[in-house]
Order: sequence, then C-alpha cells, then structure tokens
Amino acid sequence: MSFDVICFDCDSTLSKIEGIDELAGRVGLGEAMAKLTDAAMNGEVPLEAVYEQRLSLIRPDRGSIEWLGDVYIERIVDGVKEVFETLSAQNKELHIISGGIRQAILPLAKCLGLAETQVHAVDIYFNEDGSYRDYDRNSPLARSGGKAEVCKRLLKPESSMVMIGDGKTDMEAKQAGAVVVGFGGVVDRQVVRELADFYSAEPSLVSVLAHVL
Ligand SMILES: [Mg+2]
Repeated sequence: MSFDVICFDCDSTLSKIEGIDELAGRVGLGEAMAKLTDAAMNGEVPLEAVYEQRLSLIRPDRGSIEWLGDVYIERIVDGVKEVFETLSAQNKELHIISGGIRQAILPLAKCLGLAETQVHAVDIYFNEDGSYRDYDRNSPLARSGGKAEVCKRLLKPESSMVMIGDGKTDMEAKQAGAVVVGFGGVVDRQVVRELADFYSAEPSLVSVLAHVL
C-alpha cells in the first residue's frame, strides 16, 4: 500500500529517548517518571492523568528544553534520515505527531528537513527569566485520543494516511481512518503488536518503508 500522508511519532520512534523521562532524570525524578510514562504508553492509565503530574513535578526550564533538543538528535534512531529523504523525494506529506514538548522536537525536525508547521506536539510556556510556567493545556496531544483528533484534521477525504509509532496512543490514529504501523525497534510492546496493521521490530526505521510505499 502507498500513502500520501505519512505521520510519525517522535519518542521511541524517531529518537531512542522518551523526552519527558530524560528531563526527569536530569532533576533526579527518573525512575518514578519512567514508570508513569510506560504505563501511559501501554494504555494502563490515560495520558492526561500523567501529563499534568509529570510536568508540574519536573518544571523544565528553557535551558533544559534546549538540552533535550540536542539529546533527541544525538539519540536518533538508525535509518531515520534515510526514511525522511526517501519519502521527501517522493513528495509525500510528512508530519511528526507527538505528545512530547514541541520546542524540544523542533531541532530534530529541522535536521530532517521538516518545516515547523509539520510538527504537532505540546507547547510549553516559560516565564521571562526562562523558568517553567505551564504547558498548553488545550492541546489534544496531552490527552488520550488526541492523536486521532490531529490525524482527522490532517486527513483530507481524497488522501490516505499512515501513522508509525511505538505506543498505544499512536494506534489511536486508526480511529481517524489511518493505517497504523507499529515500530518496535526501540521498545517492543505487546499491545502495539496486537493493535497495529503492520509491525516491525527491526532496529532500523528503514524497515517500515516496505509498509508505507
Ligand atoms: Mg513514542
């Protein structure tokens, strides 16, 4: 099958990290936060229940978000650049749809030649001195079902869409009419194996091209 609109999750799909867990680790809250994130990605608890909790504990400042932007790039998944080059060359419409922090993902997107308008994630707000203020509480991506909402908005009647990701929240894109490809190259989740239309557990993202082109 070939698709016009190709959407990617970011954390544990394009980069080997979970951004929020990296931020938590930096302030000594790593273990507790990793458990929460994993529970959300496995669909055991709704995303919105952990979202507020994690950010209000971590309170990442502007400096941490810039640092995280570098880590996303350093820990890029094998084959990601090749995948984006291949799909761009075929004039595919590409998007990153993530429950992560938008400002931290933008540098990676730029590396991949993706315009900022193609990055859908949760904005974070700072005070004037760079300290944490809040996040965009209206963002659909900070709650369960949000990825489906964003996909629905991006999917035009005449086009076809595929969503590639490692988490239960990525599989929600099915509700919007997208085909979903599970990527287990970083984290292999049983629930995603079961929900995905196609699944790849190869370490390189290039392995998903066969399912989208
Ligand atoms: Mg993910």
